[in-house]
Amino acid sequence: MSTLAEYAPLDGRILAGGQSLVPIMAFRMARPAHLIDINEVKGLDRLAVDAGYLSIGACVRHGAFHKPVVGGPLGPLLAYVAKHIAHYPIRMRGTFCGSLAQADPSSEWCLVSATLGAQLVIKSVRGERIVLTEDFLEGVMTTALQEDELLAEARLPLLPGDTKFGFYEFSRRAGDFAMCAALVVYRVVDGKITDARVGIGGAEDRARRIAEIEHVLNGRPPSHDLFVAAGEAAAIAIDPMEDAQTTAEYRRDLARAVTRRALEHSQQ
Ligand SMILES: Cc1cc2nc3c(=O)[nH]c(=O)nc-3n(C[C@H](O)[C@H](O)[C@H](O)COP(=O)(O)OP(=O)(O)OC[C@H]3O[C@@H](n4cnc5c(N)ncnc54)[C@H](O)[C@@H]3O)c2cc1C
Repeated sequence: MSTLAEYAPLDGRILAGGQSLVPIMAFRMARPAHLIDINEVKGLDRLAVDAGYLSIGACVRHGAFHKPVVGGPLGPLLAYVAKHIAHYPIRMRGTFCGSLAQADPSSEWCLVSATLGAQLVIKSVRGERIVLTEDFLEGVMTTALQEDELLAEARLPLLPGDTKFGFYEFSRRAGDFAMCAALVVYRVVDGKITDARVGIGGAEDRARRIAEIEHVLNGRPPSHDLFVAAGEAAAIAIDPMEDAQTTAEYRRDLARAVTRRALEHSQQ
């Protein structure tokens, strides 16, 4: 923390897996004067269950999740999502917390953290603070981190054993960043969906939970028509980004499709 406090104001940057920072440096889009390599810092590779949470330290790689790391539905959910991130070599270096710090709107881990309500433990020489993902992600590659702060750990809540999950993402080629992705988790009690959490990533400036979709789902039995209605709610609720290749209308259509397909996946 003291090294970070000393060098961050001198244009120092944390180096974790380097799978975003190094390409950005290679393109000369960032030229940090100092790199603070956290890879050898003891304890930052900790991945453990603590009091109802899966704690993911700053140096835990994407590849750590290739196999379920925890019992119940959370382990398989993370394993399923992980394989959508980039390519195998990138997953063996890039980190879960680095993805959150990078805050790419398409990041799968940002989507998981926002949808499940992860708590993020932020440390600096000034102490420790805990921030919810929804307050941490502020926009495209913008977070609540101060320059001298380390995202030390992400805490994902464990999911009840009867939780169903579904994930679907659309990208132009395998391994590319998603143009739109949806994650759904819910339980079915007395034949009706309850405790639905639905998040969308890649469509807006940050991944977030969409309450309008959850309202459509909660209290109703799962069915094809309900999933179509949830997709419609997604298309209406989002405020899509536009760029030279992609119109807002196209992203709305993607949101409609990925939401329905994530719900269909949850039934498999
Ligand atoms: C070809 C390619 C395809 C990719 N596809 C995807 C994809 O489909 N989905 C996806 O999500 N990502 C993708 N990525 C990005 C990859 O997942 C990165 O690993 C991730 O975005 C950043 O993690 P990192 O550990 O590599 O961070 P680094 O590159 O080391 O750092 C990224 C930024 O975060 C800061 N930082 C890192 N860790 C911390 C921390 N603990 N606390 C505070 N600041 C920190 C750094 O200072 C830097 O500014 C892709 C990358 C490449 C090269």
